[in-house]
Amino acid sequence: MKIALIKASHDSDFKQYKKYQASPPQNIFSAAAALSGIAEIAMYDETSYHKAPVDLDCEMAVIFMSTPDALRGYQLADLYRRQGKTVILGGLHATFMTEEALEHADAVMKGESEALWQGMLDDYKRGKLSSVYQADSPFDLANIGHYPTEFIRPEIYQGIWSVTVSRGCRFKCRYCTVPRFFREQTYRPIGDIVDEIKRSGQRSFELKADNLTSDRDYCLELFEALAPLNIYWTAETNLRFADDEELLEAAAESGLWYLLVGLETPSKAGLKEAAKGFNNVHRSAEYIRKLHEYNIVVDSCMIFGFDEHDRGIFDETWSFIHDVKLDVCHPTIMIPFPGTPLYQDLEQQGRILTKDWSKYDGNNAVYQPAKMSVEALEAGCYDFTSRYFSMGEMIKRKASHTKRFGASMALSLP
Ligand code: SF4
Repeated sequence: MKIALIKASHDSDFKQYKKYQASPPQNIFSAAAALSGIAEIAMYDETSYHKAPVDLDCEMAVIFMSTPDALRGYQLADLYRRQGKTVILGGLHATFMTEEALEHADAVMKGESEALWQGMLDDYKRGKLSSVYQADSPFDLANIGHYPTEFIRPEIYQGIWSVTVSRGCRFKCRYCTVPRFFREQTYRPIGDIVDEIKRSGQRSFELKADNLTSDRDYCLELFEALAPLNIYWTAETNLRFADDEELLEAAAESGLWYLLVGLETPSKAGLKEAAKGFNNVHRSAEYIRKLHEYNIVVDSCMIFGFDEHDRGIFDETWSFIHDVKLDVCHPTIMIPFPGTPLYQDLEQQGRILTKDWSKYDGNNAVYQPAKMSVEALEAGCYDFTSRYFSMGEMIKRKASHTKRFGASMALSLP
C-alpha cells in the first residue's frame, strides 16, 4: 500500500516565516518514521520543497495542516477525494476543528499520529475506517523512529536537519496551541537522540522541542552527550535560560549557535494577559547580552494586538528590539489559533471577524482589537515590518551582526 504524506502550505507570509525557520517538519517526518516497514511512502513538504502533485500516485493521502494552511489542505483533500483516494487529515487545525475537517476527509487523526497508524490502517484494510482517531495518552518518545533522509533531500532545509528531543510545554500561554496539542511534556531518551544524529551524517540540526530547556537536569545531560559530536544546533526555548550560566555554557559548548525565544512584546500587561508574565521582560537586554557572549544569535517574533496594546505599542516595540539588541525580529499580528483559550474568549465575545483561515497569517487582524481599530493594527504592523526591512535598517543591522558574529554569519541573517 502506498501512502502520500503531505504538509499543506498556503502561499502567505506565514509560509515565508516557516520557510525561514526551515527544518524537516515534524508532522510528515515523524509519520514517515512510524510508517517505515508498514507502507510505501511518498512525501511532500509544500513549505520548503514543492507543491503536492495534482495526480497523486497512491491509495491514501494524509494531509497535515496548521490553521493558515487549512484552505490549501482542504483544496488538496477535495481534489484527491474526487479522484477516489482515501483522505486523512491531521495536524493542529484538524485536531481542533475536527467537524469542519471531516467535511473534506474520510477520517481525522487528532494529536500525535504515531500511535494511531496501525489501528487506522487495520480498519482501512477491513473497510471499517472510523471518522476520528485519537490516542488516550502521550506517545512514548522512546518509540519514535529516525527521520528518513531518502524522500526529501536534507539540502532542501538549508543544511539544517532535525532531531526530536521533546514535545509539549509546561507553560500555558493563552495564544499557544502547544500545551493543548501535547497534553504533557515528554522527553526522548538521550541515547536515541545521539544515535539518530550520528546515523544521519548531518552536522547542523534543529533540536526539535517546544521549550527545550524546561528540564534542567535532562538538558545538562543532553548537552554533555552532544558535545563530542562536533555539531551545530538551533532550538526554541525561553530567554530566561540565559540566567543559568552552567546550562548556557554547556549548551554553547555542545554547538548551540541560534536560539528562537518568545519575547513577544515589551508590554508587561500584555504578557500578563497572555499568561506569559514569566518572561522577565525587564531583564531581556541582560539575557541577550549573555547569549551574545557565547556568539549565539537571538531570534524572536514580536506580536502586536494584545488587548493591552494601543497605538503606542509600535514605537515601544521598535525601541525595545533595539535597546535589547535583538538580532532577528519577526513582526506579526497576533493569531488567535483555534483550540486556544484566546480563540475561545474572542469567539465568546463576538470579536472573531472572519473564519477565512488563509487570513490567519500574522498580516491580518482577524479579530476586533480592544484598544485600536483593525485598520490601525494592520497598518501599524505593516509600517513596522517595512521599516525593519528597509534598506537603511538592513545596512545598520548587517554592521552590528558583522561586529557581533563575523561577516559570514552576518550574510546569512536577515
Ligand atoms: S508560547 Fe512557548 S512557553 Fe508559552 S506555552 Fe507555547 S511553547 Fe510554552
